Amino acid sequence: MEKKPFVTKEQIEDIVKTYPTPFHLYDEKGIRDKARKLKKAFAWNAGFKEYFAVKATPNPYLMQILREEGIGVDCSSLTELMLSDVVGFHGKEIMFSSNVTPEADFRLAAKLGAIVNFDDLTHVDYYAGIAPCLETVCCRYNPGGDFTLQNHIMDSPKDAKYGMTKEQMKEAFRKMKGYGVKHFGIHAFLASNTTENGYYPKLARILFELAVELSEEIGVHIAFVNLSGGVGIAYRPDQKENDIEVIGEGVRKAYEEILVPAGMGDVAIFTELGRYMLAPHGCLVAKVLHEKHIWKEYVGLDACAANLMRPAMYGAYHHITVLGKENEPCDHKYDVTGGLCENNDKFAIDRMLPKIDIGDYVVIHDTGAHGFSMGYNYNGKLRSAELLLKEDGSVQCIRRAETPNDYFATLDLTPFRK
Ligand SMILES: *Cc1c(COP(=O)(O)O)cnc(C)c1O
Repeated sequence: MEKKPFVTKEQIEDIVKTYPTPFHLYDEKGIRDKARKLKKAFAWNAGFKEYFAVKATPNPYLMQILREEGIGVDCSSLTELMLSDVVGFHGKEIMFSSNVTPEADFRLAAKLGAIVNFDDLTHVDYYAGIAPCLETVCCRYNPGGDFTLQNHIMDSPKDAKYGMTKEQMKEAFRKMKGYGVKHFGIHAFLASNTTENGYYPKLARILFELAVELSEEIGVHIAFVNLSGGVGIAYRPDQKENDIEVIGEGVRKAYEEILVPAGMGDVAIFTELGRYMLAPHGCLVAKVLHEKHIWKEYVGLDACAANLMRPAMYGAYHHITVLGKENEPCDHKYDVTGGLCENNDKFAIDRMLPKIDIGDYVVIHDTGAHGFSMGYNYNGKLRSAELLLKEDGSVQCIRRAETPNDYFATLDLTPFRK
């Protein structure tokens, strides 16, 4: 499938008059449409709710848009909880799926009335020593082994640090029942960035069967099954996109085969999608600063891995469009780099692109999730601005770019100033 940016060269030329590159740009219309599409695919389930994984894109303006679409938040840390609180999420609109959790984080989760998703059996007593018992609690499951789909290993839960074994789940539920918990949830995240429509349905089957077992054996009310994140996107033009309608239908089928006959037709389905919700609806816009001709052909951008870490960290593919040259032949081979003193600071390696000139604007696609948020300050590079392209075509700055003062803010430089 051809990948087209959601902005044109003319729009970018206009935006850079006010906000210089590099910046992450988000598309309000795309975000709202996506939220509605997801809800439609799961409309068969009365209790369905998506809890957006805040870590993917922790910007309150974007969280507000999702909130207006009826979406909650999934937090994993103190500051994500604080941000969610500021935006106005509270109580059961917040899922707290953390691991190796500090006391202060649990304390705030309790104060906000969030649904706590315990990563480990030992956290149950740890939490009980900090805050009073909750009415609704979730536990994270790790089935071990390999997670396969059509004989293909997608990931290996046996090597993942998350979740509890089945025996531990049972013990946790017994303990929590003793603490007075009334409604229970089950959660698992077994494969990331999946592009097969079968992932959620297969995961749902595993969790539904566990739900029936726990309900019968421990005698507790299972209120929800949380399918977590992991539904991916087509980063490459040759990849097929997930069909969320097919995914929702696959989960419904498993629900009717497993939960309904067990008299558990009231179980709500929750999701914690980050990437699927936002990745395609954000991009990193940068300008070509330099060209370099040595053993290979290089083009250097004013953005670097500090603005988008995925290519450097995972060798991840991000599609690149040279604005204004969408229809020119891709007959030049480039490494597209940033300016970090790290040779892995390459947005693309041996990528066929149109002939690039200094001053060209490039769009690096699919940075709306796990993009800006993974940024860092190595080499003293500053974090970029985040901009929102609104439905009416106007642009709002939803996070200003860092300045050197921000970078130095945690240092006391007074002893060095005369
Ligand atoms: C990261 C994460 C998510 C979101 O994952 P995506 O791949 O962005 O969908 C959801 N839940 C938990 C617990 C996570 O750690």
